[in-house]
Order: sequence, then structure tokens, then C-alpha cells
Amino acid sequence: MPLYEVYGSHYQIGCQIGEAARQQVQHSVDTAHNLLAEAFEQLKLSWEMACILALEHIAFARAHYPQYVEEIQGIADGGECAFEDVAVLNMLDTLMEYPPQLMHCTSMAVSPERSADGHVLVAHNEDWTPEDEEDFYLVRAHPVNEPAFLAMGYGGTLPITGFNACGLASCCQTAYPGDVRAGIPPVILARSVLGARSPGQAIAKLLLPHRAAGYNHLIAHESGELYCVEISAQHFAILGGSDGYAVHTNHYLDNYMRPFERNPAELVRAHVRYHRALRLLKLGSAHTIDSLKAILRDHLNMPDSICNHAVDGGPVEREKTVASLVIDLTERRLHLAWGCPCETPYAVYELDD
Ligand SMILES: [Zn+2]
Repeated sequence: MPLYEVYGSHYQIGCQIGEAARQQVQHSVDTAHNLLAEAFEQLKLSWEMACILALEHIAFARAHYPQYVEEIQGIADGGECAFEDVAVLNMLDTLMEYPPQLMHCTSMAVSPERSADGHVLVAHNEDWTPEDEEDFYLVRAHPVNEPAFLAMGYGGTLPITGFNACGLASCCQTAYPGDVRAGIPPVILARSVLGARSPGQAIAKLLLPHRAAGYNHLIAHESGELYCVEISAQHFAILGGSDGYAVHTNHYLDNYMRPFERNPAELVRAHVRYHRALRLLKLGSAHTIDSLKAILRDHLNMPDSICNHAVDGGPVEREKTVASLVIDLTERRLHLAWGCPCETPYAVYELDD
């Protein structure tokens, strides 16, 4: 996977990503265009409507997190794309009001008392549209006023899955709240976590008012503190990983949040991935990078398995694991497989080169 080294203000960081990944940015905009055109009968969302709605969300983001809107502007300028096209890309799931067929991502973490070497380990499978797989990249960023981070993005989207120099890792999964409205898009909230210096600060950054919707966030800290934060536009729940394990997929786990789920009966695939991952995690008491990779390669419930191969179906149904990550937070090291981890070996990347 390409690795881009970027420095400076948020706008400069965005520009450098856009310039380096210009072809990927433009390809991901084309892919999103095609997706909305192909799925128009289902979604009733034209590109023009998506642009208007995206700019409405951007107004909220600009009021609360202008620095990340500047990053999007930078990606658009560097990638030689229109700002609104890149804005649509960054909030496509919110604009489509979460087509329930897509069941993105599985995240796990273990604290030092559950790992063989006392390290904090985080594992994540990124499940996404197969057409976008070639557009993924890693960013090693050195923002002027926030901690350095190593994270993954694709095309023109903000990097949101990774870890920072304060020993904080962030992964998220699509959630399906029923209270979607105009507000700060989930991708902006997710991006803000990589700018946090402690778990408490990370959670506070997620819970600003005027949210458009929400993701499920798994946050791990080098101290061994693990959190899952479940968010909708108007509600949230904070779950701690007190027994040293944390697992999250796409449904809400907290009883308070469950009534806010848009269509719980359509989330069966998220439930079975969750229980499979939790059971495999709890079968081991001394986890290693390799034991977590083995869980990420699991194929029970194929093709909707933890290692996702659901490549057949309509335009908003197709998905697969496009990247698989294991983070050793103690060593600040990322093991990454580009594609399904059952087919692709992991390569190692470090925050400090
Ligand atoms: Zn597989």
C-alpha cells in the first residue's frame, strides 16, 4: 500500500495527500459517481443532490472542526477535484442514509493482561466497496499542532483508522442510527480522534452537539484502557473494555442505544461477526499479533465472515475486506494486509521512520 509522508497545516497536509494520491482521489470520485448512478432506483440520490446535502453538513463541520474541512479542501485542491465532490466522498454513507446491506468492518483490542508480551494490540478489518480497494493508502502525518499519526485513508477521504504518537489507536465501524440529520458528518468526528492526546479527550471530541449521525468507535490507549463509543445524531453510549477485551462491529451493543437503530433486523451479519470475534478472542488469554491475524482471517458465515468476501450483489450490496490491520500500540507498529488477509501477507509500518 502506498505510504505518503505529509507535514504542516491541515490544509497543507490535505494538499500533499491530494497531490500524491491524485489518481486515487479522482478514481474514487468516479467510483462514487457510478455508485449513485447505478443505485439511483434504490437511493433516489443524484450526484447534484448529494453535493447540496454535503455542503449543508460541511457548514456544521466548519463551525466545530474547521481544520478538518481545510484538510478536505486541501485534498480537493491537490487532487484537482471540486471541493463538493470530495465532500460527498467523505460523507457518502451518511448521504445514502446508510443502505443497510453494507456491514462495514470488525474491530478488536486486547489490553496488556490479555497479550503474551504485555503489549496493547488492536485489530481491524476494513470492509468496503471492492471498486475502491485500489485507492487505499497510508498517511504518516506530522500536523503542526496535533500529534503525529499513521493512518489509512482511501481516495479523497480523510485518514481515520490508525494510531497517533500519544499511544492512541482509533478504528470505527459504520452504525445505523435512525436519527440522521444535517450536522457534523461522522467522518469528521472520526478524524478528530487522531488529534486527541488521551482517551478522555478522544471521547469528548466525538460527543460534540450538532452531529449528523454516528459511527461505532473503538478507542485503545497504550495504558491498556479500551473503549467502545456508540454514537447516533442525538444519543451516545460509552462502553469500557474492563475485562481486557473489546470487540465491535456495526450494531449497537448498549441497551440504551438499541432503540435508536434504524432497522435492527437487517444487522444480523454484524451480530454474527461480533459473537464470532468475541468468542475467538476469549478462547485465548495470551494474544499475539499472529493470533489476532488468525481471527481477522476467519471464514465462519462466509461470505459475510470476519474476513469478508461478499463481492456479489447490487451496487450498494457489494463489499469485501479491502485492508486488514493489527496495531502493536506499545511498539507503535502497524501490520497491514492490502486486501483480504487470507490472500495477502501483512507488511510492517512504523510511526517513526
Ligand atoms: Zn478471506
